[in-house]
Amino acid sequence: MSAQIIDGKAVAAGLRAEIAVAVAELKARHNIVPGLAVVLIGEDPASALYVRNKGEQTQAAGMHSVTHKLPAESSEAEVLKLVAELNADPSIHGVLVQFPVPDHISQAAILDVLSPDKDVDGLTVINAGRLASGLPGLVACTPFGCLLLLQRSLGDLRGRRAVVVGRSNLMGKPMAQLLLQADCTVTIAHSRTIDLPGVCREADILVAAVGRAEMVKKDWIKPGAAVIDVGINRVPSRDAELAAAGKTRVVGDVAFDEAKAVAGWITPVPGGVGPMTIACLLRNTVVAACRIHGVPNPLD
Ligand code: NDP
Repeated sequence: MSAQIIDGKAVAAGLRAEIAVAVAELKARHNIVPGLAVVLIGEDPASALYVRNKGEQTQAAGMHSVTHKLPAESSEAEVLKLVAELNADPSIHGVLVQFPVPDHISQAAILDVLSPDKDVDGLTVINAGRLASGLPGLVACTPFGCLLLLQRSLGDLRGRRAVVVGRSNLMGKPMAQLLLQADCTVTIAHSRTIDLPGVCREADILVAAVGRAEMVKKDWIKPGAAVIDVGINRVPSRDAELAAAGKTRVVGDVAFDEAKAVAGWITPVPGGVGPMTIACLLRNTVVAACRIHGVPNPLD
């Protein structure tokens, strides 16, 4: 048996097209243009690439896009002042500060200042609490993207056994909450879990959000399970010469080549979960704009 490959690129493109239609409708009916502000502190090349992609895709969807690039030496007070200004800016409905930030700036302090209504990454305590309480809020983009991929692949998730490996606030915990809301029976595993392969083998749905290259092997996977690979890990190129020259490739947390022989569905890396993250960020910006202006969300 070979798994069905879940094409996150295609699903994300479809979602972005739906978002563009919703944005056009909001403009025509209510004269609202959803606006996203992204704050990048420092020069990290990977973060700069993400931020550029976010800006391009926001504009392509017909939304207002602003990027604030601050030098790495910016003080925490300067960053907090900018976030407070964006909170108050009526043309901005979503604010995302690209993490990680330099060590002298506290992520928690940024999330304390950020308005929960504009927290399109779903990271503030208020939005995490809303999710845990089953209340409407803004949900972290990557886990929401994973949920959409699972629903589109499997349909109803009710009653399925789900195992989420990883318990970060960004990924593992919100993922587990979303699966619980979808009526799965959910286990969260982490670095102290005993017999991790055995726990994973119980899963109809296995989400790996760990950050360890190709950790999940084929004998960790229940035959026919849906495997969602969130990991993004850089490893040396397969070609020895290129590797010696420092070339790398990206792999997930799942050993894809062997896992696809056992799983029923599987996301590739790249091209699986990654593209969904930005699409869900745009979606959250539309959600936030509709809530702030008190109008119905055309995406509902
Ligand atoms: P964190 O480092 O914050 O969390 C990693 C989690 O994995 C922790 O809960 C940790 O457990 C657990 N873990 C670490 N090692 C092991 C192990 N050997 N066995 C079992 N569990 C382990 O990472 P994130 O949640 O932020 O991200 C996870 C991965 O997803 C990364 O590769 C990241 O790059 C990727 N990612 C991808 C996104 C996308 O858009 N596709 C978006 C966000 C993240 P413990 O708590 O016990 O330390």
